[in-house]
This record gives sequence, C-alpha cells and structure tokens, in this order.
Amino acid sequence: MNYRRAAFLVSVGLILASTGCRNSQQPDDRVLVAASIAPLADFTRQIGADKVHVVTIVPGSANPHTFEITPDIISRCSKARVLVLNGIGLEFWAGKLASTLQNPDVIIITTAQGIAVLEDDDHAQGNPHVWLDPVYAKLQVQAISDALVKADPPHASLYRQNTTHYLQKLDVLHAQITEEVSTWRQREFICFHPSWNYFANRYGLVQAAVIEKRPGFEPNPREMAELIELARRLQVRAIFAEKQFPAKISETIAAESAAQVIALDPLGQDGEDFSYEDLIRYNVRQMATAMK
Ligand SMILES: [Zn+2]
Repeated sequence: MNYRRAAFLVSVGLILASTGCRNSQQPDDRVLVAASIAPLADFTRQIGADKVHVVTIVPGSANPHTFEITPDIISRCSKARVLVLNGIGLEFWAGKLASTLQNPDVIIITTAQGIAVLEDDDHAQGNPHVWLDPVYAKLQVQAISDALVKADPPHASLYRQNTTHYLQKLDVLHAQITEEVSTWRQREFICFHPSWNYFANRYGLVQAAVIEKRPGFEPNPREMAELIELARRLQVRAIFAEKQFPAKISETIAAESAAQVIALDPLGQDGEDFSYEDLIRYNVRQMATAMK
C-alpha cells in the first residue's frame, strides 16, 4: 500500500486541475462522475476505465461524518453526469451538492440501497460502512455499472464486460479473506468507531465494544475502567483505530490490557493508483498482526 505516493499524486492532480493544464487543448468527452469516497471512485474507474473521469469528493484524510463540502468540490462536480453516493446518511451534504449541479440529466445513485442496514448509536441513520464488506461492495459495483450504462449507452457492452471482470476479482478477494480469517485465533476486537460491523458479520469477527459511543463522545473515567476490564476479561488483542479519529483513548486502553492498537483505514486516499482491493488487503493484514 503506497499511500504516500498516492497522496503525492493527488496533490499533483489537484495542482494540474487548478491551473487548468489538463485537457485544455481538446474537449474531454469522458463521462464526468463525482463519487463521494475513494472506494466508490475506484469501482467507477474499474467499470468505466478510460471512458470516465472521476472526481472524489471526500479526501481520505477527512472524517466523512464531519466533512464539509467546499466551493472547490462544488465547482469540480458541477458538470457531473453521474453522482455516486453510498447512502445511509454518509453524504449528509448530498442535497446541498445536488442543488449546485448544472447538468439537468445528472443521474444520482445511492449504491447501498437494498442492503440490510445495521443500527448503532454512532450513526443516526444506521451504519453506512457497507463498502468494507466485499460482498456488499459487489452490489455497489452493480449499481454504478447500471448508472454508467444509462448515462453512456454507446459504451454499455464495455461497462458490462468490465463489471463482470471486476465482480470476479471481488469474489476472489472475499474467498481469500474467508480463508485468512479462518486461521485467526482471536475473534473479538474493540474499535474506536464502528466502521467494521458489516465486515465483522461477514467474516465471523465479534465487535466486543465501541469506544466512541456517540459522535464526538469521549468515555468518562468509569467507562474507561469498564472498557479496560472488558479488554482484559476477553483477552482482546486488537483495538481498531483509524487515522480519521483520535488515537489517544485507544492507546490508553491498550496500555492497560494485553491489546494493541491496530491502525486501520476504512476510506483510503484516492489517487491514480488507489485500489479498493489493496485497501481491504491492507486492513486484513493489519488485523492479522494482532488476531492471528
Ligand atoms: Zn461511521
């Protein structure tokens, strides 16, 4: 996983875009797609290949639950022909963005539609982190495929072919994770933010506790003592942390128990070489360091 390089490429891309160098000589007939997060952007590129140009809205360094849409993003998305959203409340800013889109025929899709939503206290509209389960991700890929076919019928057969190929790759990914997780000795984990519920359900892991019980919540001393007691009693070895959230409380619990803080990334930093498959494999490798 080469995040530094990806971040560098994103920076270069932004500079080129903002100085207007890119494609300034000839009209760009690619389908402009705005995707809310990097995994959905990658799905779109896997299907659309060189027929699409994808703008990612939420940067990988941001907490998507508190992300504020910027004038720069609004202007980069204004001519989008497809807006790809996750849904389940992740894009609380979608209405504001949709009202600024200039293409009257824009197709807006919520790719998590139809997935059985898990409820928790951190997410008012249910847990939106469905993309971290590769089996649910396949439904999101199919939704994006259908939208591209609708937006750009002349390339329908290419999109369908690429979709079939990519869905097969996600099947392989799912099979590999199933096999890998079956070798782990530990099933329980504690997490700072509940991003891994769908993943855990899919692969038989158990979320023993969530540190952040409500958005922005910090446990009081009594709750901290309970978390430490739980970690000790279950002999939890992994506390899942994410760079989009503060790490200090996770580190305190780890220091008082046998657990270690495992740095995970549920979002990824979008760029030309960003890959959802790599992102998931990175996270599984990180989990394995404590749970295997
Ligand atoms: Zn969340």
